[in-house]
Amino acid sequence: MTFLIENPIYKRRKSKKIYVGEVPIGGDAPVVIQSMTTTDTRDVQATVKQIKELEEAGCEIVRVAVPDKEAASKLGEIKKQVSIPLISDIHFDWRLALEAVNQGVDALRLNPGNIGDHERVKEVVRKVKERNIPIRIGVNSGSLDAKWGEKFGANRIPEAMVASALEHVKILEDLNFDLIKISLKSSDVPIMLEAYRLIAKRVDYPLHLGVTEAGIPKTGTVKSAIGIGTLLAEGIGDTIRVSLTGDPVVEIDVAKNILKALDLRREGLTLVSCPSCGRMELNGFEEMAKTVEEKLKNLKTPITVAVMGCVVNGPGESKAADIGIAGGNGKGVIYKKGEVFKVLPEEELLDALLKEIDNMTKDAVTI
Ligand code: SF4
Repeated sequence: MTFLIENPIYKRRKSKKIYVGEVPIGGDAPVVIQSMTTTDTRDVQATVKQIKELEEAGCEIVRVAVPDKEAASKLGEIKKQVSIPLISDIHFDWRLALEAVNQGVDALRLNPGNIGDHERVKEVVRKVKERNIPIRIGVNSGSLDAKWGEKFGANRIPEAMVASALEHVKILEDLNFDLIKISLKSSDVPIMLEAYRLIAKRVDYPLHLGVTEAGIPKTGTVKSAIGIGTLLAEGIGDTIRVSLTGDPVVEIDVAKNILKALDLRREGLTLVSCPSCGRMELNGFEEMAKTVEEKLKNLKTPITVAVMGCVVNGPGESKAADIGIAGGNGKGVIYKKGEVFKVLPEEELLDALLKEIDNMTKDAVTI
């Protein structure tokens, strides 16, 4: 896998670098993929199992909900059995925050303004300072404090979210704490876009991006790709989380594809395949493209493969890819690194392509 700090086409916003466990966030660090478990945190076995599945899929930081004392008391056990950094998600109860830090978590997701008593906030900050671990302030449009909604009105929700986040930030800064990360999520893409753009101009803390409650994978993937992808393309964002209903492992795949589409990460297959049209001259073209994707889904080595139906765009795309097929009349050309590699009858193209990819990658391809 290759991590890119920024695509030369766009400039990344300069943010302060912090660490969650060993994982750098912001500054010159690549954009990090996060997710959140859906298990009951009190069930250590189920939670560890899901974190390991997420890690295997490519998740780099994981967050767990800490709804009560029992969940907090299990964090140490969970932490011992997983290798990616663990963030505990806590609302309101400062005692849970203290316990989570005692249990060894790598960061807190906590809004200090929601704790109430200032002495309690001080106690939490003193504790995280001892361990040098960050706090993520997370403002969601759906749970925005009513006072901000009233102050800014229904048409200025992004400004209200920013004001809320800055209030939490000030509480921490006044206590000389600056290991801060901020998220301003909304299920409404235009609102989250505007909120992140506004806060990006106000502070230099790293930003965690997400379209919250994006929905089921089919539609949630599109919303997440537009929300997260637009901001990343503007150079905004240091960590990302795709929020989809269902198995969180799916989120990782979508997150990776967002980063790959923006050339912020190079890993495994990038498939260039044409939609086909009336000029198509290859039989079974769609099946061919699907087979390439299926066979190469576990590939780690970055490779761009083109599967193109005819001679209009086929040669150009195939030459630009690492390897590719340009279909012709009952036959096709395989290009490799910009040169003609083989001209074969159409029924031999797929096997020859996969065999050569195997040679090129020497990876665990299940061909
Ligand atoms: S490559 Fe050829 S077949 Fe495929 S969409 Fe373009 S023109 Fe149509």
